[in-house]
Amino acid sequence: MTDISVVIPLYNEEESLPELHAWLTRVLTAGGYSYELIFVDDGSTDGSLQVLRGLAAADTRHVRVASFRRNYGKSPALNTGFGMARGNVVITMDADLQDSPDEIPGLYDMITRQGYDLVSGYKKKRYDPLSKTLPTKLFNATARKVSGIHNLHDFNCGLKAYRAEVVKHIEVYGDMHRYIPYLAKLAGFNRIGEKVVHHQARKYGTTKFGLDRFVNGYLDLLTLWFTGTFGKKPMHLFGLLGSLMFLLGLAAVIAVGAIKLYNMHTGHSYILVTDSPYFYISLVLMLLGSQLFLAGFVGELVARNSPKRNEYQIKETIDIKEK
Ligand code: UDP
Ligand code: MG
Repeated sequence: MTDISVVIPLYNEEESLPELHAWLTRVLTAGGYSYELIFVDDGSTDGSLQVLRGLAAADTRHVRVASFRRNYGKSPALNTGFGMARGNVVITMDADLQDSPDEIPGLYDMITRQGYDLVSGYKKKRYDPLSKTLPTKLFNATARKVSGIHNLHDFNCGLKAYRAEVVKHIEVYGDMHRYIPYLAKLAGFNRIGEKVVHHQARKYGTTKFGLDRFVNGYLDLLTLWFTGTFGKKPMHLFGLLGSLMFLLGLAAVIAVGAIKLYNMHTGHSYILVTDSPYFYISLVLMLLGSQLFLAGFVGELVARNSPKRNEYQIKETIDIKEK
């Protein structure tokens, strides 16, 4: 059985790879672990794949490589690596030497000895430009609030450790690698810890993510929150909002009519219902309310047809033993 699988997604990181491989080998052999290094080449257009071929030829017992035909993104690369991993503990790290392999023994211990399902690195002292560190603080505060994982400071740290079970039961797609702890929590793994890790400035190459990471990150968080909370019962959200809006509109339109009738009968001056701005506001409310309600029904139809509608995370089953 393999102790550790290290999963490394990479996109155009040819300069870093030999150094990373040598450093990992040093740390892992010194610790006496049995291990595998899974490099997932995310459709690099530089010489990364050639470098990986060389490493695999020189270190046949440890290096495994999967290479995408084109660039899909970090999440698909991680998901592929997770599928391949055979170790008891899975470590992910970036290929750009910003994460230090020296942290691996500590992370491994937290999983195997302290019983964590997932340990996320925390780059307490970061070596990144301010344009990245500042929005990151806001990003993490939001992610903590929405996910309810209050003890994490750095959701998107590339350096993480997982119990093998965790990576086999989550699906990282799109750009969801930013929220793996949240995905794990939604899958029922809630012993999530954090370890302060050493971070370095990028030595070679450039960052692969621009400022759009924050816009996409925010949208993905909303998606996760929505699918995690209401994915299996969309009507509970849309039905509630729709009913509230519709009832509010109905009450308002009745009030507008009632006031007119009252004034008419008591001989006061009155205006036509269609002259009152409240009438139109009520109409809008009722229309939007019905739309939301219908969205809820459509959502239920979609959810009912999902092949995953009855897929749950079963941790353990105990059955009658046949004689
Ligand atoms: N990466 C990848 N596919 C992509 C973009 C990035 O596999 O489409 C890898 C990249 O090679 C690196 C890791 O993801 O190993 C983190 O990327 P980067 O260092 O650019 O991100 P940053 O440190 O700026 O957050
Ligand atoms: Mg980096």
